[in-house]
Amino acid sequence: MTAQQIRQAFLDFFASKQHTIVPSAPIVVKNDPTLMFTNAGMNQFKDIFLGEAEPKAPRVADTQRCLRVSGKHNDLEEVGVDTYHHTMFEMLGNWSFGDYFKKEAIDWSWELLTSVYKLDKDRLYVTYFEGDEKEGLGKDQEAYDFWKQYVAEDHILPGNKKDNFWEMGETGPCGPCSEIHFDGRTDEERARVSGATLVNADDPNVIEIWNNVFMQFNRLKDGSLQPLPNKHVDTGMGYERLVRVLQGKTSNYDTDVFMPLIQFIAEKSGKIYKAEATPRADGWNEAVAMRVMADHIRAISFAIADGQLPSNNKAGYVIRRILRRAVRYSYQYLGFKEPFLNQLVPLLAEQFKGVFDELYSQKDFVQKVVLEEEVAFLRTLQNGITQFEQVVNAANNNVIAGQFAFELSDTFGFPLDLTELMARERGFTVDTEGFNQALQQQKNRSRAATAIDTGDWVLLKDNDSVEFTGYDEIETIAHVIKYRKVKAKGKEQYQLVLDKTPFYAESGGQVGDTGDLIFPDGEIVKVTDTKKENGLIVHFTDVLPQSVDDALTAYVDRDRRLNIESNHSATHLLHAAMKQVLGTHVNQKGSLVNADYLRFDFSHFSKVTDDEIAQIELIVNEKIRENIGLKEERSVAYAEAITSGVTALFGEKYGEYVRVITFDDDFSKELCGGTHVKATGQIAFFKITAESAVAAGVRRIEAITGVGVEKYIHEQTTLVQQLKDLLKNPKDIAKSIESLLEENTRLKKEIEKSVLEKASGLKTELAAKAESINGINFIVQKVALPNAEAIKALAYQLKDIVADLYLVLVADIDGKPNITVMIAENLVKDKGLNAGNIVRELAKEVQGGGGGQPFFATAGGKDVNGLDRVLEKARGFIG
Ligand code: ATP
Ligand code: MG
Repeated sequence: MTAQQIRQAFLDFFASKQHTIVPSAPIVVKNDPTLMFTNAGMNQFKDIFLGEAEPKAPRVADTQRCLRVSGKHNDLEEVGVDTYHHTMFEMLGNWSFGDYFKKEAIDWSWELLTSVYKLDKDRLYVTYFEGDEKEGLGKDQEAYDFWKQYVAEDHILPGNKKDNFWEMGETGPCGPCSEIHFDGRTDEERARVSGATLVNADDPNVIEIWNNVFMQFNRLKDGSLQPLPNKHVDTGMGYERLVRVLQGKTSNYDTDVFMPLIQFIAEKSGKIYKAEATPRADGWNEAVAMRVMADHIRAISFAIADGQLPSNNKAGYVIRRILRRAVRYSYQYLGFKEPFLNQLVPLLAEQFKGVFDELYSQKDFVQKVVLEEEVAFLRTLQNGITQFEQVVNAANNNVIAGQFAFELSDTFGFPLDLTELMARERGFTVDTEGFNQALQQQKNRSRAATAIDTGDWVLLKDNDSVEFTGYDEIETIAHVIKYRKVKAKGKEQYQLVLDKTPFYAESGGQVGDTGDLIFPDGEIVKVTDTKKENGLIVHFTDVLPQSVDDALTAYVDRDRRLNIESNHSATHLLHAAMKQVLGTHVNQKGSLVNADYLRFDFSHFSKVTDDEIAQIELIVNEKIRENIGLKEERSVAYAEAITSGVTALFGEKYGEYVRVITFDDDFSKELCGGTHVKATGQIAFFKITAESAVAAGVRRIEAITGVGVEKYIHEQTTLVQQLKDLLKNPKDIAKSIESLLEENTRLKKEIEKSVLEKASGLKTELAAKAESINGINFIVQKVALPNAEAIKALAYQLKDIVADLYLVLVADIDGKPNITVMIAENLVKDKGLNAGNIVRELAKEVQGGGGGQPFFATAGGKDVNGLDRVLEKARGFIG
């Protein structure tokens, strides 16, 4: 079977067992503070497991793109070194939401593996949870018994908490699990050593392929387990591992999932891929590097396609580091000194066409982003190598300090092993202990900076779901159904969830609402922000309401909300206008909509010209004046919406039914969950205030509307009035400023001229004062000239008329000391005098320094009062 057929067979099998097939969620997670990237198929169903949302169907199945590079599940260091852990991989999964449980899950996984995929039963091992005394949990007898129907007893193995109790994170849904492992060794090896001893023992040929989790607990903050309201099944099978096993390979990379990429890399690098190479054997480093590239480009490309650009912080930084790891390997071992990684993007996009189309439709954009990152990092790498060389050359022992090795890794992306390798080549070692210390210190710092202490929810009412009323009203009577205390950066806050709320929770770029919760006893609690957490709408307050059990009225801050709505609707008009003016390639890459302005990031490869900006503004303002009524459809079937031509965004997770916002059927139709004006006239006016670049291939427009424009116009007219007043009300301000500038230039020139005249007058005066001692003519004087150029000119003129000159001039230039020394060339030669040395010595008196040539030097300083001492010292030299 081809990889494609294997995926399809999985989905078909579970469809035949009445599962609804759903799309993969984006790989980049929004609305969950505990998770940056999707790390398991179950993530998108988390709120169902927690009882916070109703499932759309009781049984579903899908293939989910996952990324395990941060947090609780981080496989990054294994990737490429072993043959079965990836950064991005597909997890095939089937779920039961309170429907079937252990029996069906076990029956069907066995049926699929042995009857559909026809895997050799003798090579399969299964595990069950052996229990854990500390947790107060017994062994999973049920799972054991169900397996025993199909599997020989010596192929059913007990497993401990680490392997057989699945948890998504520090807190959250969890439960015992049952894994299925495949023994892919040769028959001779199997005869020699029983596969049972190699399960969960890191043998690269006896690997876990599928995990069936029986979700029945919620892990609380204090570590205790609480039974979930309903029991669920959550399974995950590694697609790339399954393909490997079915195609009879010993490495995931030898399958048709990875081979096209590996072959392309091998061909372009002119090196051979030695799949079987072992550590320290010939070709090992090259093989690891090829696997790393083939793997990492998948993670990078899908993260970018799903909206996470590489950047300097958080999720963006994780992506940047993965990219750098790939570039570093290819630079070091495959000889790619020029950007190359990006060339894999089109290949990958083609491969995933029809599976995850978000990559294919954005392949040029993704490739461009990768290319720019590569260019920047290759430059950094080169800088790091230069720094390394300097340190090595200046070293007085043969050890590279741990702190420096850490800086190389932190700033230049050099992992420790690369620094060690470079050190070894030069006969140096690296202080790894010092490196680890520095690393640990940084970890502690960042942990302290981001530490959030989240308490458990205190439940007041049992409610399955919460209702958002904010599309229709901004004031709703409601109850608090649960709350918790959160501590971050030393600040204590409360988070409240209401059964009904008009407060819009930050999402889709629109900021969260603020407002008041008003209780019957008159207590008013301010809501400072509203955010989403999975399906919940969480209200942030600084205090816990005293009468938290009572009915309350939730009021959204009205004026703020109206301004936000004006900016949000304008964003839609802007998006549509841009597609008309710039082209249909324009795709939203991020947006911010708050009460003050709107910010819109979009894919476009060149600067938006002034002319284009004017056209865009014109169209948007026309649409505003047309006062187009809002058409809001809350529940349109997704497929129907897409065929009708609505604009959907990449990286958003859309359900089966979507909300469509239309302003004029022929102009703007978007999938959107935000709040909007009732008619475009409410926006009043639209003005673009800035256009800039944010990343490779991504431009940004900032704009204001309504009240914002009013403020802007007020500021501008006030400014113009101020200018008029200053200029004494001229008819034409611009002309008036122009002639002022001209006059200014003319005056400056005149001043320069008169200064030079003054200097030349001084020349004769000073020449007359020269004192002749031992064949040297000394002039040591303070002069009143306004700039250093004039003094320099004077010095040169004196040199021409006074022979054997030894000149020291000091001046106070706008409160700063200036010292100028000029020595006749013959004195420099014959007597070894040096103006530079003299000026430096003199400058000490004004707390300054300077230098120059042996015949001419100048100095400045801090203490203008020291000039008299300079004169004295200089006269002292005469003797
Ligand atoms: P392992 O012990 O091999 O790392 P795991 O216990 O972390 O696996 P689960 O969290 O149970 O795996 O995930 C379910 C399935 O997803 C696994 O059985 C495996 O087939 C697959 N899988 C997990 N991590 C990876 C990865 N990094 N790359 C590819 N497949 C993976
Ligand atoms: Mg793992």
